[in-house]
Amino acid sequence: MIDTWDTYFERLAYECELSGNHGQAKDVRLFFGGKTTEEKEIGLKALLRKAYRVANPQIGGINNSTIRPVVNHGRWLIDCPYCNSASYARDDKLFFCADCQNGTIGGQYIKTPFPRNRRAIERILEVRPSENQNWTNETIATLENE
Ligand SMILES: [Zn+2]
Repeated sequence: MIDTWDTYFERLAYECELSGNHGQAKDVRLFFGGKTTEEKEIGLKALLRKAYRVANPQIGGINNSTIRPVVNHGRWLIDCPYCNSASYARDDKLFFCADCQNGTIGGQYIKTPFPRNRRAIERILEVRPSENQNWTNETIATLENE
């Protein structure tokens, strides 16, 4: 499985529960467990208040720019265009950087559409060891020949 924000944090919360870390599981669900964009926004604001000490987080609106997700070590990631951070690509295809809070564009989201051939890319990568599950913009033919 090539993880997204949604699959990674869901599994992390589950693993916290299994190991008896119920408080940590609750925090993971609160900060990262939202299903809809609105629920994710509530979680991000809670994370920014608690972990980043941002008194009044500003999140909202969608910028016209787009960023393409990449696969790095089995994770769909978004490299932040404004700072050196990266985060998991979200299934709602929106990016908000907790580190710089997309401050350059006033806290707006950036659209992050997955490639049309996402499933084909994933099927090829999923048989590899995770450290070799990487994709930036290669064609399917190139991936198959690696
Ligand atoms: Zn950033």
